[in-house]
Amino acid sequence: MSGVSIFTQAVHAGEDRTEHYGALSVPIYPASVYGFPDADEAAAVHNEEKEGFYYGRLGNPTQQALEGAIARLENAEAALAFASGMAAISAAVLAVTRTGDHIVAPKSMYSTTTSLLHSIRERFGIETTFIDASAAQNYEAAIRPNTRLLWVETPSNPMLQITDISEVASIGRRHNVVTVADNTFATPFNQRPLELGLDLVAHSATKYLGGHSDLTAGILAGRKDLVEAARLGPAKLYGGNIAPQAAWLVLRGVKTLALRIERHNENALAVAQALAGHPRVVKAYYPGLPDHPGHDIARRQMERGSGGMVAFELETADAARRFVNGVRLCTIGTSLGGVETIVQHSVSMTHATLSPEERQAAGIADGLIRLSVGIEDADDLIADLTQALDGV
Ligand code: PLP
Repeated sequence: MSGVSIFTQAVHAGEDRTEHYGALSVPIYPASVYGFPDADEAAAVHNEEKEGFYYGRLGNPTQQALEGAIARLENAEAALAFASGMAAISAAVLAVTRTGDHIVAPKSMYSTTTSLLHSIRERFGIETTFIDASAAQNYEAAIRPNTRLLWVETPSNPMLQITDISEVASIGRRHNVVTVADNTFATPFNQRPLELGLDLVAHSATKYLGGHSDLTAGILAGRKDLVEAARLGPAKLYGGNIAPQAAWLVLRGVKTLALRIERHNENALAVAQALAGHPRVVKAYYPGLPDHPGHDIARRQMERGSGGMVAFELETADAARRFVNGVRLCTIGTSLGGVETIVQHSVSMTHATLSPEERQAAGIADGLIRLSVGIEDADDLIADLTQALDGV
């Protein structure tokens, strides 16, 4: 299916008409144990001399179909699915680094990834330098002889900061350091970091890949040697494998990914423009707005749009809470990437685990609201957000 549009790829990625009686929907394989006709076959599959499945933690045909679909969409050599985005992220970090190694990562990114990097410093002696990732050269400046990993998250959670992926890729190649992007916010519809030269992408498939706020899952995709290192290392040893039922739900979500993200892109731009013009809004953050500092880079590396996530600042934390309490159509919630619009006050919700200093370094103001713009009618959303802002 190479050469066809991503709209076509998304519908058909993962299907195999020669298997499963031609079923258009890949079946769910709940089995945790697979039997063998004889000892030789059992040995061959266990020793990876022959392809096959033997134990639930190590994969099944539904999971394999999902991995094939995401590898196709991300243009990756290989992919590996996990029980959550954090399982994928921690597997990537632990597959590449060991005690004494060093990582460079953004100051401003998903707070649990930040917490993971703090935790592996304390527990395993793997240190991270946190940089301002809006200037890619800061990665190079932070590199040490023991640096093994450059972590990228663009657009970032929740500030929608943009990092120049091609720049980080060439820094990684120059210094022989593995490069990984968390591509959760962009999705392969808008941005394909592997084609821009990075080694791996990580996803919280809980978000846009699944797309319906009804599953928890994660994916790693990219260089085969690194995906294999994650599969035989952290994925096998620490578990964190995806349930076959969740793998099936992600596969189903992916079929409409292109349509959904096209609509998320349009709605988010319209909402960001409306917010930017509202007198109560101190600042609106959306890479599609021309005054966003990463706008030009985003236009280059995000082919089809700037995604469905928008952030904006109100004067104070109290104003933000009044706003959140005022929405009617939108839901107050912590996640993102579903078909429905979700609002949250970042300081008291997802980023509450960071210290005030860390939040300040990440640029997260007390009055920051994060908005996951859904696929409802844009005018209805703007009307709801506007009435809530007017009531602040
Ligand atoms: N990466 C980003 C950018 C996220 O926003 C999240 C969750 O919000 C994660 C990773 C973690 O994913 P999960 O909750 O599926 O473990």
